[in-house]
Amino acid sequence: MNKPVTTADAIVGPEEEQELLKQVVWPSHEPLAFLRRRGGLKRGYEADYERYHTPENVAVVARLLGPGGMHIIHFYKGMGLKHEAAEMERCYVLAREMHRRGLGVCVYIGGTMHTETMYADHPEARDWACVATDGGPVTYMMYQLWRHFACVNHPDYRAFMRGLCDLAIDRAEADWIWFDNNILRAEPRSCRCRHCRALFPRRVMAKYSEAERVERFGCADLGGIQPPAWSESWPPSRLHEISDPVVQEWIDFRCHSVRDFFGEMEAHIHRRKPDCIIALNIKGIHPHNLCFDNGIDHGRWDLRLVNSCDAGLAPDVGPRGNLIGEFRSFKISHTTALSVIDGHSDRGNLLGIVMNRQLHTERFGCVPANGQAMLTFGALGRFLKSRNDTLYGQRPIYADVAVLRSWPSMAYNGINWMHGPFICEQGLWEARIPFVIVFDRNLDDLARYRVVLLANQDALSDAAVDRLKAFVADGGGLVATDGTGRLDDWRRPRLVNAMTEALGLPTGARPARVRFGRGRAAYLPRLEAQTVFRAGEALRGSHADTALPPRNWRSVEAALRWAAGGAFRFVVRGPRQVAAEFREGPTPQDRVVHLMNFAAKPVRGRIQVDMADEGHGWTLKLDSPDPPPVRAPALTRARGRVTFALPGLKVYTACILRPAGARRRSIVGKDGPVRPGAHGVRP
Ligand SMILES: [Zn+2]
Repeated sequence: MNKPVTTADAIVGPEEEQELLKQVVWPSHEPLAFLRRRGGLKRGYEADYERYHTPENVAVVARLLGPGGMHIIHFYKGMGLKHEAAEMERCYVLAREMHRRGLGVCVYIGGTMHTETMYADHPEARDWACVATDGGPVTYMMYQLWRHFACVNHPDYRAFMRGLCDLAIDRAEADWIWFDNNILRAEPRSCRCRHCRALFPRRVMAKYSEAERVERFGCADLGGIQPPAWSESWPPSRLHEISDPVVQEWIDFRCHSVRDFFGEMEAHIHRRKPDCIIALNIKGIHPHNLCFDNGIDHGRWDLRLVNSCDAGLAPDVGPRGNLIGEFRSFKISHTTALSVIDGHSDRGNLLGIVMNRQLHTERFGCVPANGQAMLTFGALGRFLKSRNDTLYGQRPIYADVAVLRSWPSMAYNGINWMHGPFICEQGLWEARIPFVIVFDRNLDDLARYRVVLLANQDALSDAAVDRLKAFVADGGGLVATDGTGRLDDWRRPRLVNAMTEALGLPTGARPARVRFGRGRAAYLPRLEAQTVFRAGEALRGSHADTALPPRNWRSVEAALRWAAGGAFRFVVRGPRQVAAEFREGPTPQDRVVHLMNFAAKPVRGRIQVDMADEGHGWTLKLDSPDPPPVRAPALTRARGRVTFALPGLKVYTACILRPAGARRRSIVGKDGPVRPGAHGVRP
């Protein structure tokens, strides 16, 4: 495998690119037999299928993606090894040709069982199928009812999947293995097969001491606990507050099961091939309770994997002027071990590359980059590719505000995705305030931020409260809203609110501000969500309708600024469709303000950026795939801030601020991994 593209001259020019794009047929991750069975396949598709397997087409793909390029191809969909054998052989031939041309090979492994053929090829697989509350199988979405989900806890299914990984490594010589569909379905369709029913009480028994079990469940022997028996009278979809300790443990068990399945796959693959990159599809942070619905608690992901956020959500200006996109999912790449990929649209790729923390690998450099399951071409594509190692890669983001998503507040509350962090993250994003999303595991590491925001974090463990208290005592800021701190991590009401007890912060009907130790804490009684859910409605929303800052966002922002002790490090003023991210630059001393236009039309209007001066003189360089402004913007220094303005924005501009006197370096070049700077965020 060649080194990844790092210089502009390894990238094809615009005219050749146009010509190659007319010729290319992109390989698919879906085998032909599946596309036919699914129905609706366009007539004549077979010609495309044949074409993308030819050496001539692989040559075009290799030229377009360049050295280090990677593409996903079909390998195993779930139809059975005998049924898929012929197409798998074609996968291996295609993979060899891709390798010969210097491309990386990513193979797709589906997580459903296509019953009509899989059960004929592997009769024992009938036993691997998930068992829903009604005792029936758990079928795939969109009326593909012939596809059954397999249980991630079934030992034989895991062995089968390990065998597939072996085939991927030995026969396809895969550089990437991409798993799909191994998350859980929402209750009542989550698996309660005999393995799940046996493992569930065993895990809960092991988690707690005998005394804790008596205190939590009223009984020390938990051998009799079972997955919840939902019914028509008591469906899971109407459960707002989840106080039942066994249902709480059922959510934790399901999140653990998904993480454990991938932990086993990761260990197996890396034992066999240490530099193989593993991708998976556990979705991003979306407007519903993913812990309860899908067994996905992003906060517990400590495996270096590439996640596909996959909600079909392209960055856009929403119907109510809101800036929608997967920004939350990219933010968490800086506080978990997950790196995140979009790959669905040019704008999604831009947002992802600008925001995501890539994984550094010996063999491929920083991944995922443009050209690695992200197909963005033209001026933007060439720009993203040539700057990958100097502007993006593993560079930390700057964050003044940390939004906490604590496990017991989020997983055990069916509606908190909406009332709490979700709408505040939208407010921070649209106000272009440097922020990050943190989980309980990050609470030991708050010192790098100026303020922590507890948006209706109603349930907090004593350990979390202790860490928050130490953070404020040490000079940190804290803003709490709504019911923050009223419950413990088992969702038992506290006798005194934890914020009041720890910080002396009143949490009644009125806003409050107190000083504690060297820090500040503020309380706001209510986030005024713009979307209201009524009893009986499904507890999930769409980004377009629900990703809206609270109506009283200005008071939230004012409280955050007060708790931070003054202006945020970066302030961006401009038309609403402009989004911003803030990262270290080509060198760790550089600060880069990335400005992106979410609207289709260019921004006509001034965009003003100001930044804390911190005693340096600064120089400014704009780097953009768009035509440069007629006049380079001037930097002015006043009252501890350095300020400049852009006359408008077409698609994207990186504003690179460098302390005066810092060593000059080429913007385009090979830097390798970046030494983290003093202010950035690290997982
Ligand atoms: Zn099961």
